[in-house]
Amino acid sequence: MVLLSNMGGEAEEFDRVAALIDEAGTIAVCAHTSPDGDAIGSCLALAELIEGRWEGKEVTCLLADDDVVPRTYLFLPGTGRFVPAASYDGAPDLFICVDLSQASRLNEAAAVLERSRKVAVLDHHPGSQRFWDAGVVRTDAAAAGVIVTEFALHLGFSITPSMAQCLLCAIVTDTGRFQYQNADGEAFEAASLLVDAGASPSEVALRVYQSDRLSYIHLCAVVMARISTFEQGRLSYSYATTADFKANEVPIAECDGLVDLVRCVDGTQVALFLKEVPGGKVRGNLRSKCGLDISGIARELGGGGHKAAAGFTVEGTIDDALSAALPKIHALFEALDAGAGAAR
Ligand code: 5GP
Ligand code: MN
Repeated sequence: MVLLSNMGGEAEEFDRVAALIDEAGTIAVCAHTSPDGDAIGSCLALAELIEGRWEGKEVTCLLADDDVVPRTYLFLPGTGRFVPAASYDGAPDLFICVDLSQASRLNEAAAVLERSRKVAVLDHHPGSQRFWDAGVVRTDAAAAGVIVTEFALHLGFSITPSMAQCLLCAIVTDTGRFQYQNADGEAFEAASLLVDAGASPSEVALRVYQSDRLSYIHLCAVVMARISTFEQGRLSYSYATTADFKANEVPIAECDGLVDLVRCVDGTQVALFLKEVPGGKVRGNLRSKCGLDISGIARELGGGGHKAAAGFTVEGTIDDALSAALPKIHALFEALDAGAGAAR
C-alpha cells in the first residue's frame, strides 16, 4: 500500500506526536485562517481520532478566525464543536496545527499557541519554519487529510464513518475533485480506503459542488463575464468587488471557488482571481495548470501556498493588486519563454 509503505521517517514523527498526545490532558486542534474543506475536515477527523484512541482527553477544535464554519462544510459531522479561538481562553497542554505549518496563518489562534505547553503539526504546505515539538509536514501529500489518514493507520485505529467523511471531503476539495496535479495515487488510495470506511463521495459532491445558492451562481455569472486574458491567452483573470458581494448577497467566505471559474479557459496556464475583502485589502488566488510554480509570486506578495495553488492578501484596490501581480506573472512567462528558447 502506498499509504503505509510511504511512511518511512514519518513513522517516528507520528510516534512523537502520539507521545505528546499521551502526555496531554487538554488539546487544541486548529487549522489555517479562512478554512477550506481540508482544514475543516482534517481538524474534525483528528479530534475524533484522538477521542477514539485515547480516553479522557479534552479536545477543542478551534477556528483561527472570529467567524463561523463556512456554510459549504456544515454538513460534515461535528462542525458544531468548532470554537473561535478569540473566545477560547484555555492554555492547552498540546496545540496541534492541521493543514497549517506557518504560525502567521493562525490569526487569532496565535495567542492560544503562545499559551500552549507543546505544539504538534500535521500538514502538507511548503515553506514552513519549524516551530513545533513534533510533526509531519509532507509537501507531496495532496491534502492534510492524507496525513491524518496515515496517522490513523499508523496508530492502527479503525477509521469511523464520520471521520472517513471528513477526510474524504478534505481530499476531494484539496485535489479539486481529483482534477489538480496533486491528485496522485496516494490521494486515490486514501479516498478508496475512506469510502470503504463509510465515506460517501456522492454526498460530498452533492454538498460541496451542487448546493450553491442561486445568488452565488449569479455572482459566478458576473465573474465569468469579466474574465479576460493576458500573455497571449496564457493568463486568465477576473475579480469581484465588495459591491458584487453585496448585490448578490453572497458572504465573502463562500467565494473560495470563484478562481476555479477563471482557470477553465482553454490555453490558460495561470489563473488569477482578485476579490475585495474588509479593511481596504484585496485577496488574490493564483492557480497554475501546467506545472509552472506560482507559489513564489504569492510569497513575494506576502502570501504563500503550493506550486499550483497559492494565495496572498495585499492592501489597496483591485487595480493596485493587479498592477502588483501582473509584472511578476509576466516575468514568470518571460523566464519560461527564455528557457524554451535556450532549449531550441
Ligand atoms: P487559496 O488561494 O485557495 O486561498 O489558497 C491556495 C493554497 O495556498 C492553500 O493551500 C492555502 O493554504 C495557501 N495559501 C493561501 N494564502 C496563503 C497565504 O497568505 N500564506 C500562505 N503561506 N499560504 C497561503
Ligand atoms: Mn490543505
